[in-house]
Amino acid sequence: MGKATSSVFSRYSNFELLVKLLFLLSTRSKFFIRIIEKALTPKFLDRRWVSKLIQNTVYRIFLVGETIPEVRDYTNARNAPNKKFMVDYCVEGAQTESDIRANFDTYSDLINQQWSDNVAVVIKPSSLSFDEELLSGEVSTQHMDLMDKLCALAASKGILLFIDAEQSWYQGTIHKIEMEMIRKYNRQSAIIFATYQMYLKDTLNILKRDLEESKKEGFHLGVKMVRGAYLESENDRALQNGYESPVCESKEHTDTSFNEGAQLALDDSISVCFATHNQYSCSLVSDHLLKSASQDYKVSFAHLHGMAEDLYSTLSQEDFVIYTYVPFGPIRQSIPYLLRRIQENSGVQNQGKQETRLILKELKQRLF
Ligand SMILES: Cc1cc2nc3c(=O)[nH]c(=O)nc-3n(C[C@H](O)[C@H](O)[C@H](O)COP(=O)(O)OP(=O)(O)OC[C@H]3O[C@@H](n4cnc5c(N)ncnc54)[C@H](O)[C@@H]3O)c2cc1C
Repeated sequence: MGKATSSVFSRYSNFELLVKLLFLLSTRSKFFIRIIEKALTPKFLDRRWVSKLIQNTVYRIFLVGETIPEVRDYTNARNAPNKKFMVDYCVEGAQTESDIRANFDTYSDLINQQWSDNVAVVIKPSSLSFDEELLSGEVSTQHMDLMDKLCALAASKGILLFIDAEQSWYQGTIHKIEMEMIRKYNRQSAIIFATYQMYLKDTLNILKRDLEESKKEGFHLGVKMVRGAYLESENDRALQNGYESPVCESKEHTDTSFNEGAQLALDDSISVCFATHNQYSCSLVSDHLLKSASQDYKVSFAHLHGMAEDLYSTLSQEDFVIYTYVPFGPIRQSIPYLLRRIQENSGVQNQGKQETRLILKELKQRLF
């Protein structure tokens, strides 16, 4: 892949660039990460000045706003031929029936918007069910019914639905539901996409099994492939409860699992979205696509808003289909999402350094 230029940040104001730069620099220090994490606890967010500060810094880097009209402004402003958006209502878990109903209504509202064909919608399954139900491994009639209604609505509108993957202790139930939806709605093409977390030891085998079943039964598997975002909580829970961690034993094992999964999906020409900021994995896929005779529009890449913008600018210059994952929602609901992004940024030293260099270059050009 070629080199991106600093113009990737031209959309940012000086203030936004400065905030991003300060954030990237502070994530190099465990001390600052702990301070940001502390500021994101309810106790501190109750202080008006803390919540204002978070709203104008970390929140602004990773979320696009609180409401659907703000999402619409964001997507309209970035319209481009090979550019698409996965809109994520940033909500996880549900405490009451009215939470479930409100989350369902927001998803329906999102799907019902008059989007052009460059917008897909993300569903977080835990926001439509209670903890105990997901933990039981049994699918509740209500959960299945709500998912079915959203999938039917999306299918009728021609909108793709990406179902996020969450902690492994929920995934047994979630995968049963999403496979039922995929079997039902992906008869002609992939409309519903399940997320495969390649950091889990058994995901490669699950992917192989689902691929086999799709061929036998004649449905189109829709795959969103990620490494996995719950590394710490997966390992902590396994340790506390005395079972073997379901996560691969090292980063290298996770990388191998992701890249083998990617090869499998490419060899089988399925509908797949590679949701990763890993340069090597992106190159592996882009090299494969460039070598194959025709551009395969069933393959796409996805990055999170506010992350890996230089890498994705390069991919979009090469005419690949690119999704930006666009989270929105109130600040308090977004805390788990923000905490995961902070942890990820603290681990992505090389990518962070590259972004820091590009921001400095852009600021220098503007100010001097
Ligand atoms: C568009 C988009 C959608 C996403 N949706 C989801 C989702 O639905 N569910 C979800 O769980 N995640 C999701 N993620 C997050 C994703 O799983 C990763 O956390 C994140 O993208 C970082 O991984 P990477 O592939 O970009 O590459 P890298 O930065 O190269 O890899 C970091 C990842 O490697 C793995 N890893 C790191 N250290 C170790 C170790 N010691 N042992 C084993 N593995 C290790 C972890 O998975 C870690 O997140 C999404 C990411 C994107 C870009």
